[in-house]
Amino acid sequence: MQNITVLSGGMGGARFLQGLLHAIATGRLPGVGPDAVVTVVANTADDIWVHGLKVCPDLDTVMYTLGDGIDLERGWGRRDETWSVKAELASYGVEPTWFGLGDRDIATHLVRTQMLDAGFPLSQVTEALCRRWLTPVLGDSVRLLPMTDDRVETHVAIADPESPSGRRVVHFQEYWVRLRAAVPAELVVVVGLEDATPGPGVIDAITDADLVILPPSNPVVSIGTILGVPRVREALVATRAPVVGLSPIVGGTHVRGMAEQMLTSIGVEVSAAGVGLHYGSRSDGGVLDGWLVDERDADQVDRVRAGGLACRAVPLMMTDHDATAAMAAAAVELARG
Ligand code: GDP
Ligand code: CA
Repeated sequence: MQNITVLSGGMGGARFLQGLLHAIATGRLPGVGPDAVVTVVANTADDIWVHGLKVCPDLDTVMYTLGDGIDLERGWGRRDETWSVKAELASYGVEPTWFGLGDRDIATHLVRTQMLDAGFPLSQVTEALCRRWLTPVLGDSVRLLPMTDDRVETHVAIADPESPSGRRVVHFQEYWVRLRAAVPAELVVVVGLEDATPGPGVIDAITDADLVILPPSNPVVSIGTILGVPRVREALVATRAPVVGLSPIVGGTHVRGMAEQMLTSIGVEVSAAGVGLHYGSRSDGGVLDGWLVDERDADQVDRVRAGGLACRAVPLMMTDHDATAAMAAAAVELARG
């Protein structure tokens, strides 16, 4: 297996990718040589314009994580970050004050915004940013592709008794960062998704892959939005490569983040089996051949298998590189089986 394609959100996807690369580098993946190329198709529906800057949280989380610039404790943004610009903006009373951009991080958004203003598509901007972050560390072994160059933004409807409709719609970042996903999401609307064109290389990365992995990313607002880009789902259904996924739900809830709220909003059972069956078997119109659930959810394996998927229960907590590398190895084994 030479070409591995991973559809990724931010933190969950990035951590998995770190383990996958560690597994490749240490020869732990059966049938995968040290020269394997990993292509990451990243979600861009979390993107937001703030203070005139284009911010791409999931692209940056993957880029900073794999480029060893991430703040490990927060899981997003730059290590050794300072917050002078944020404090200055707050002193001016400039909104939004709830979205924190660190000083180092802002340099990335300035470069990106300038390049976009100059007419470069997001995919080329991302390539340029990755020449700083990925090329020196990983050479050509990793490619990071935005799912689309078009503007796509996830919005969330929440209850608002003061609004005539009884609802208010907020940007996904406001739901997550300001409201901390503490109120139920009544509806998830991904603006621009239906009209989006897959980014350059995205469809080929799926079609020409030897293996496609859905890491434990959010099934609705990370993987779900990538699958919603026209032709992406079809490419997954049609590819000759096996497609396997790892559950982000362990023991009936998410490990981090707000997958539980998002799954509830689209009426999907919050369980490892629920998510696997939501993606569905390729033999039955879905996108997966195999699904890994955590050991704690071993009692759900039979249900997943009954849905037409190969399934195994293995440890799925990404506690360190070794544990995550073992998850990647289990995914490859499932795909080969
Ligand atoms: P985001 O864009 O930063 O929200 O990141 P992703 O969408 O890539 O990943 C978020 C998902 O990762 C959440 O649904 C978590 O449940 C899942 N996740 C985080 N850490 C772990 C872990 O250690 N194990 C598993 N199985 N899932 C995890
Ligand atoms: Ca995200």
